[in-house]
Amino acid sequence: MRMIGVLGGMSWESSAEWYRRANGAVRERLGGYHSARIVLDSLDFAEVEALQAAGDWPEAGRRLATRARALESAGAECLVLCTNTMHLVADEIEAAVDIPFLHIADATAAAVAGAGVDAIGLLGTAFTMEQSFYRDRLARTGIRTLVPDADDRRTVHEIIYGELVHGIVAPASRDRYRAVIGRLVDAGAAGIVLGCTEIELLVSQDDSPVPVFPTTALQVAAAVDFALG
Ligand code: GLU
Repeated sequence: MRMIGVLGGMSWESSAEWYRRANGAVRERLGGYHSARIVLDSLDFAEVEALQAAGDWPEAGRRLATRARALESAGAECLVLCTNTMHLVADEIEAAVDIPFLHIADATAAAVAGAGVDAIGLLGTAFTMEQSFYRDRLARTGIRTLVPDADDRRTVHEIIYGELVHGIVAPASRDRYRAVIGRLVDAGAAGIVLGCTEIELLVSQDDSPVPVFPTTALQVAAAVDFALG
């Protein structure tokens, strides 16, 4: 089994779920006492959030690239970045290592295309919904991305940073996400990408009339496939 290098802690609420799911997937595939080989670097999210708020993406890229090299030195044979938002600096991270970087949007695009969906509604942080890095990556697979309107984007973003990264999962916020999903479907979305690793702590397939694509689960599946060859 190959060792997975994990850049996590963004936030740890979703990385904890990532770790649990990866080990569960290996147990399911191999049975017995098997569990995943993982080397994890869990960052202090306060430092990452401060760089995001300041828009200092070059510094964020340098720091994540340094941590990625450390994971490679520690024996990682592939690398995953457990946050959609920080894929904004994926190129810097990928360039810093020789091991494969498993881009979260590629795992997502493969699942969306595999389901025959060509237009998705994207939920994530304001960075993910408003900048082009994520939708451009999906577009490589021919997937069209719809984002919520400004008010709905604010709602989605505030629930991530005000609640989900702090471990708060509120039914009222789930209802607000359901309403946003409904409006995306009315606008033509045939699938919903849960493009923030904490959203699947709040929202599931039960909350959407169209297929949902949960990025934590999809990234885990891609990493475990790589690890088990
Ligand atoms: N985990 C989130 C994501 O997938 C947001 C937190 C962060 O900014 O890293 O985008």
